Amino acid sequence: MAYAMIAQNTGNSSVYKKEHIEVPKPKKGEVVLRHTAIGVNFIDIYQRSGVYPPPGGEFPVILGCEGAGVVQSIGAGVTGVRPGDRVAYTIQGGAYTSHRVIAADRLVKVPSGVDDETAAAAMLKGLTAQYLIHDCYKAKAGDTVLVHAAAGGVGLILGQWLKAKGVTAIGTAGSKEKCALARRNGFSKVIDYTKQDFVDEIRKITKGQGVAAVYDSVGKSTYPGSLKCLSQFGTFVSFGQSSGIIEDFKLADLAANGSLFATRPMLFHYIAERKELEKRARQLFKVIKDKDVKIQINQRFELSNLKQAQDVLESRKTTGQTVLIP
Ligand code: NDP
Repeated sequence: MAYAMIAQNTGNSSVYKKEHIEVPKPKKGEVVLRHTAIGVNFIDIYQRSGVYPPPGGEFPVILGCEGAGVVQSIGAGVTGVRPGDRVAYTIQGGAYTSHRVIAADRLVKVPSGVDDETAAAAMLKGLTAQYLIHDCYKAKAGDTVLVHAAAGGVGLILGQWLKAKGVTAIGTAGSKEKCALARRNGFSKVIDYTKQDFVDEIRKITKGQGVAAVYDSVGKSTYPGSLKCLSQFGTFVSFGQSSGIIEDFKLADLAANGSLFATRPMLFHYIAERKELEKRARQLFKVIKDKDVKIQINQRFELSNLKQAQDVLESRKTTGQTVLIP
């Protein structure tokens, strides 16, 4: 029986209600997908709690931004995929459900050798890691960069991918265990920023030079320090706010800290064009297949346990990736 976890209102994780749904029919250019795995992401929490507006602008709504599954039926004009194909995607909303309808041009085929859970967990976080290090600040061999929340979903992918590119990645994480995990996943040094001042530590590690870029998804609690960690002309990549929204950013801070560059990117702009989505997904699946990047699914829940899955992510109790199984 098809069902969805529907967020009735903005609020905490108790807003979800399990409801039976009719399996939708695909219109022109659309596909009906039976999910086999769904990724859980911090953006879903922002959309549920009101930090970002929900997709479509109002509640009730089906949240969830990435998944993998099997094509069940196709609408008129769909040529890229056929019933039975294994596919994955990341788009805003609509994933917390057993079956969904989706535009065919947002799907990528999952290559052989990559399982559905890996694909579901990799699309949003892995494509984010891809564009962050190839477009926002093009990290190159010999660079030293800083990544906050290094043991998180995006963090563990960044650490491994940066290492594969010959970049020295320093991380921060919120416990001894998380620091150890990040060190096993590409980071050369990891600072427990709940115990140590990460700015002092970065100065020591880089002998006062600072880092070429900071990839900062923590936001409010880290960003003033992040600017101080950068070398002259360094790049501040602010791509999230798990600790709260940055409200007092001043352009003058970029001058004061060494003629810095800053960007606040969103994945969905970087994959809006079909050819961009395909190129980035190709690169992502290549590093997974080459074993440069292992997608680490450290939490699995049934889809109907969505509340618990979001609670552990929100309360800093997860590492790596979290997936839901319908
Ligand atoms: P994570 O697995 O990284 O979880 C968030 C982590 O942030 C926590 O585990 C925790 O790690 C850290 N954190 C620090 N302070 C807090 C706090 N006060 N409350 C909660 N967590 C805190 O999540 P994701 O991999 O799903 O996403 C990582 C970030 O990347 C998010 O901010 C997300 O929005 C952003 N993102 C942005 C995209 C974009 O295109 N702009 C696309 C994809 C993700 P620790 O305990 O180690 O501090």
